[in-house]
Amino acid sequence: SMASPALLMRVVASAYSVAEKAATIVRNVMSAGDLGIVEKAGPNDLQTKADRLVQMSICASLARKFPKVTIIGEEELPTDDVTEDLIEDGHCEEILKKPCPAQYTGIKEEELVIWVDPLDGTKEYTEGLLDHVTVLIGIAYGGKAIAGVINQPYYNYEAGANAGLGRTIWGVLGMGAFGFQLSEAPAGKHIVVTTRSHSSALVNECITALNPDHVIRVGGAGNKIIQLIEGKASAYVFASPGCKKWDTCAPEAILHAVGGKITDIRGNSFQYNKEVKHMNSAGVLATLRNYDYYASRIPNTVKESLVP
Ligand code: AMP
Ligand code: MG
Ligand code: MG
Repeated sequence: SMASPALLMRVVASAYSVAEKAATIVRNVMSAGDLGIVEKAGPNDLQTKADRLVQMSICASLARKFPKVTIIGEEELPTDDVTEDLIEDGHCEEILKKPCPAQYTGIKEEELVIWVDPLDGTKEYTEGLLDHVTVLIGIAYGGKAIAGVINQPYYNYEAGANAGLGRTIWGVLGMGAFGFQLSEAPAGKHIVVTTRSHSSALVNECITALNPDHVIRVGGAGNKIIQLIEGKASAYVFASPGCKKWDTCAPEAILHAVGGKITDIRGNSFQYNKEVKHMNSAGVLATLRNYDYYASRIPNTVKESLVP
C-alpha cells in the first residue's frame, strides 16, 4: 500500500487551499467596500480588515491541522475569537500526490516554522493597485525557507471577467515551483524592480549605482519575486530595512526552488528559525540569474549603511 504522504507535503497541500480561501477573503473585503484601515507604525504601515481576517483564517486553519507547528503571522491579533466561517480544512490533491524530496521526508511538526504575511502590498491594496497584492505562506525547517505558497488574488484582473481571476504559485526546494511560466529577463538588459511606497535616499542611491536600463516600482515582496521568476525584472533591490521574515520566506523558497538567489544587500542569507528577529534590517537583493553581477555592484557605502 501507499505510505501516507510526508508531513511537508501535507502542510504545503493545506497551505495551498488555505491561501485560496485567503484570496477569496481579500476580494470579498474589497468588494464590500469597507477596508477598515488602521495605521500601525505610521501612514506607510497599514492594516485593513482583509489583513486581519486573512491572518486569522490562515493561522487558525493551519494550527487546527498541524497543532505543533510554530506559526508566525505579521499582524498582532487575538487568536481566540476566530469564527468557523474563516476555517479552511481542504487541501490540494495534486500536491499530495507528488513525492516529498528525500531530505524532508522525516520532518516532524515541531520542527517546522510557518511565516505568514496575510496580505503583502497593503498600501497598494488600499490604492486600488490590486495585482500588486499577494498572500504569503512560507515554510521553514532548520532555519531555511524550504517551501512556499504565493497567492495573487487579482492576477488577471485587468484582462476581464473571463480571464480567470487569481492564481496560486507554490514550490518546494529540490522539487521546483509550479503555477506560473518560468521565464528569464531579456539577456543583457538590467531591469531593477524595487519598492513603490517605501523609497528612501539610500534605496535610490543603490539603484543609481547599478546603472539599470529600466526601473520598475511596484508594491509587495511577493509581487517582486513574481516579476523575477516571470522574466519581467532581472533584480529585486531594496537597500532599506522594512521587509520582514514573513515577506521573504515564501518568496525565497519559490525563488530558490527554481535556481534563483536572495540575500540581504550585504550578501548574507536569511534565517527563518522561530527565534530570529523579524526585521530584514540589511535590505533585500534577489535575482533569478546573474546574482553576482548585481552583488558586485552594490556600493560599499550602501552596504555599510545597513546593519543586519
Ligand atoms: P514594498 O516593496 O514597499 O511593497 O515592501 C515590501 C514589504 O516590506 C511590504 O510588506 C512592506 O509593508 C514592507 N516594508 C518595506 N519597507 C517598509 C517600511 N519602511 N515600513 C513598513 N513596512 C515596510
Ligand atoms: Mg508584506
Ligand atoms: Mg502584510
